[in-house]
Amino acid sequence: MPGKVLVTREIPEAGLRILEPFDVTVMHERPPERGELLDAVRGASGVLSTATETMDGEAMDAAGEGLRVIANMAVGYDNVDVAAATERGVVVTNTPGVLDETTADVAFMLLLAAARRLGEGERLLRAGSWEWWGPKQLMGRDVWGKQLGIVGFGRIGQSVARRARGFGMQILYHNRSRKEEAEQELGARYLELDELLETADFVSIHTPLTDETSHLIGAAELAKMKPEAVLVNTSRGPVVDEAALGDALAEDRIFAAGLDVYEEEPTVHPKLLELENVVLAPHIGSASVETRDRMAVLAAENLAAVLRGEQPENPVDE
Ligand code: NAP
Repeated sequence: MPGKVLVTREIPEAGLRILEPFDVTVMHERPPERGELLDAVRGASGVLSTATETMDGEAMDAAGEGLRVIANMAVGYDNVDVAAATERGVVVTNTPGVLDETTADVAFMLLLAAARRLGEGERLLRAGSWEWWGPKQLMGRDVWGKQLGIVGFGRIGQSVARRARGFGMQILYHNRSRKEEAEQELGARYLELDELLETADFVSIHTPLTDETSHLIGAAELAKMKPEAVLVNTSRGPVVDEAALGDALAEDRIFAAGLDVYEEEPTVHPKLLELENVVLAPHIGSASVETRDRMAVLAAENLAAVLRGEQPENPVDE
């Protein structure tokens, strides 16, 4: 079978096995430098990329006219210029659905950890500074029975809502379209964004990163949140204005935050690194053995389908 395939990072074996019929080059564990990527992609018919590679028109042109597919091993595809791909007749695919529960687990983990001050407590203990149990020590905020506001009520947002139901939480949501079936199933109430921010005790962000959602949560939105509220972001870093969040947390204008994603990964805004009331995870939303296997397999199957002239399972259409 013809086709040179570039895999931009080391991915689970299960995905590579599917690509065995092709002439595969696997780059390395670390993200490639831009120049390395542009060199390595030359002559590729298919690229299996991840969120750390910018797959824009320049990268597609570096591949050359034989490029037929960019299979992104992620559900988010803000790193791929889909319009540039369409112009060049290149199919773009992603990996929706296989990471919903795993990512929702991380969102709920951050929500609990931020509300109950787990990071702060662990730092205290590991520093050898925990001297006694204290009646007023490390008091957090209850999660159970509170109002959870979900912004972006798609696959992952709804998976978070299902977890929250188990904690007796009431579900509020904001989304660009109403989700009436999910409203019924989860007892969720639709609110405009401003009203959600004013009402919710917890706000969890699950939109994709697009021109409309960039800095969706900025200083003005943070100012609407309750002082006892907790913000969780597992979507993409630029959806939240990190500097504005740092200010709100430093001035105790909101209670805490839990973050998995950052505006300039792997850099984290220095203000956030100094604060006790923010839990910081290194973009591990989908990072379980089982889910990364599923993502690698799905991305590889999508890529192989296009090179075989078949319809891939997950084309991205904009
Ligand atoms: P999804 O099913 O497409 O859900 C996204 C939801 O956001 C949709 O319901 C969509 O509304 C809504 N939305 C889009 N633009 C909006 C806007 N401007 N205002 C309000 N709502 C808007 O996607 P998903 O699978 O849940 O994934 C969501 C995102 O999570 C991904 O794009 C990715 O960036 C991120 N993610 C991060 C990790 C991680 O490791 N931290 C892992 C997986 C995913 P419509 O229904 O009207 O389109």
